[in-house]
Amino acid sequence: MIAAPALALVSAISAVAGSVQIAIVRQAASAELAPEGQVLIAQPGGKTKGLEWKGALMLKPREGGLQLADLRLKTETRLIPTGGARIHVGPNVYRGTLILRLDPGQTLTVIEELGVEEYLEGVLPHEMDPDWPLEALKAQAVVARTFTYANRGKFRKDGFDLTADTRSQMYKGMTAVNENVRAAVRQTRGEVLGWKGKLLRVYYHACCGGATTDAGAAWGGDGETDRPLKGVRDPWCAASPHMKWAIYFAWADLTAAISERRMLNGPIKSLRIGARDAAGYVRTFLVKSAGETVEVRAAELRGSLGAGEMKSVRIKSVNLLKKGVEFFGGGSGHGVGLCQWGARRQAEKGRNYGRILKFYFPGSELSEVDE
Ligand SMILES: [Zn+2]
Repeated sequence: MIAAPALALVSAISAVAGSVQIAIVRQAASAELAPEGQVLIAQPGGKTKGLEWKGALMLKPREGGLQLADLRLKTETRLIPTGGARIHVGPNVYRGTLILRLDPGQTLTVIEELGVEEYLEGVLPHEMDPDWPLEALKAQAVVARTFTYANRGKFRKDGFDLTADTRSQMYKGMTAVNENVRAAVRQTRGEVLGWKGKLLRVYYHACCGGATTDAGAAWGGDGETDRPLKGVRDPWCAASPHMKWAIYFAWADLTAAISERRMLNGPIKSLRIGARDAAGYVRTFLVKSAGETVEVRAAELRGSLGAGEMKSVRIKSVNLLKKGVEFFGGGSGHGVGLCQWGARRQAEKGRNYGRILKFYFPGSELSEVDE
């Protein structure tokens, strides 16, 4: 048996390891809850009792509190699954404690409180294909765990740690968790990426298209980027389906997209590539509207057109047509940090997750959360 390598402790973590609070329903008019197994109910200032109800229960706001089927509840009531019980909420299923909250605007929010490791099992299948090679999933697990600790509390002013959507990480409870995902989380338990004794601020994306990019350049900051977040050349994602793409946008759609953020004198008639960063990602486009040339940030234009439509700003060339523009590019996502398709290929070629992480985050240290 090989002994696990001794890992450096990341000492400067602001919060201790343990639990995390995720908003699984946010400002909704109602939610459907279906307990499965023994669930306890704890109202603030009240006794903890067994929830007698079975089947689907409608949760709704009422004046000053909440209504669960026929039960009148106070805000902040907790539903606590015991002995392996679970609670279905809409199409998903959860095993953590659910906190039911009345919002100021007479809507309701449901927050799940659970251990970080359990949470990660519910993130992984929605951020990477759960049937991909184990070492790629382990690399993803470490990055997702690091992201979780680095961003825990980001939504504290809203009363929880993280959202369950792309503003944080996609999370759908136990839905879609398989043995591969459980193994990836279990075999990397507590491991995070560190940099100079602190948690590294990590990012990941589907495919870099041949080179990842500098975090500073991607987010438009002017500060120096830490070494692990500088771009690397990546030959590993060359066979990815995102490697090469073309997309067409009509002038009218481009005009509308740019007008979301700035005043234009008139419709756009011409567009060319302005500045690129060292990794080949377009940072600005120059567009002409009624005799005026306007500089447009490529990332903003991508956001307005739809990040799923224009898959990345790693654009090689543009082709101006009478009614619009064809963009020829490669990759999918912002291009910072871990390239998932590259990680997959490296795992297929026998590299382990530690080596994959070193490749995308050079100089970073595989570390343990200091509990
Ligand atoms: Zn790549």
